[in-house]
Amino acid sequence: MDTTGKNIREASLPEITTFLTAHGEKAFRAKQIWQWIWQRGVTTFEEMSNLSKTTRELLAAHYYFDSLTIHRTQTATDGTTKTAWRLHDGEIIESVLIPGNQKFTVCVSSQVGCKLGCKFCATGTLGFKRNLSPGEIFEQVIAARKSAEAQGISLSNIVFMGMGEPLLNYENVLQAIERLTAEDGLAMSPYRITVSTAGIPDKIRQLADDGVRFNLAVSLHAAKETTRTALMPVNKAYPLKDIAESLKYFVGKTGTRPTFEYLLLKDINDSLEDAKALALYCRQFPIKINLIEYNPVEGSGFRHSPDKHRDEFVKYLEGCNMVVHVRHSKGQDIDAACGQLAGRPATP
Ligand code: SF4
Repeated sequence: MDTTGKNIREASLPEITTFLTAHGEKAFRAKQIWQWIWQRGVTTFEEMSNLSKTTRELLAAHYYFDSLTIHRTQTATDGTTKTAWRLHDGEIIESVLIPGNQKFTVCVSSQVGCKLGCKFCATGTLGFKRNLSPGEIFEQVIAARKSAEAQGISLSNIVFMGMGEPLLNYENVLQAIERLTAEDGLAMSPYRITVSTAGIPDKIRQLADDGVRFNLAVSLHAAKETTRTALMPVNKAYPLKDIAESLKYFVGKTGTRPTFEYLLLKDINDSLEDAKALALYCRQFPIKINLIEYNPVEGSGFRHSPDKHRDEFVKYLEGCNMVVHVRHSKGQDIDAACGQLAGRPATP
């Protein structure tokens, strides 16, 4: 891919307007180009069919798209589709299109790899390579939307639960969401977007200060300090009490109810004692709890929690009047479920 010039998806509308007029083009063409990029989701200048060939060539000489190409696609028996994308610099990321009741949800990546190294997560074993650009994030959604629409169903939800920690790529993730939700972008509802974080307190506060309207999910996975640190090394830097303080701030400022994601792991965090610790922790703010059934990652050493443990866990929390949902991860047979995205190089 030719990446000379500037990434067009990092150019503002005024910047494109100035560029065009400086090259003797009409200013209104900028709006057309903007629509092609952010409403139609094109990834080449050739697709901008209402521009002259000369204008398209002018753009191509000064700008480029950091677009994605399909490296591999796999579809699971439950209809979940995982796509491995090759980025312009050769790196691989993955996104997952998950079918629901007459709707689709896309799970997108925000980074190549991840530096947080959660013990149950395949991405965490890769280390961190780089942040994704707003355009690279946006394009995962565009591709999912096209794929969903080709099946006659609309894409209704976006979750930032793929590879990477979204809040450690704060600016780019928020810029992508701005383009996904803007009237002159994809005009999707922010209430159908969920950003999931391992819990970075200062960034959670920043979200509140920035007045975000999307949903916030925190991957909690344990409400006991020692257990959480063993599962998520990031807990050493940002312990549970700091996350709680930032969530109180977030809830107070946004008036929303975040979600805790809690992966049930046999004999690690699925006892009645663990449920009690969780209920106690959750008393500090309004919260919903998603209990996720674990899909074993090869060599991880973690096991699926037995149904009996899960049922007792749920019963205890519900007895404390907590809002609890049990989630069954989809796409297990293609390593597309929670914690299984690894962007493994593969033969296309
Ligand atoms: S669970 Fe999320 S934050 Fe943790 S290593 Fe995996 S991608 Fe990173």
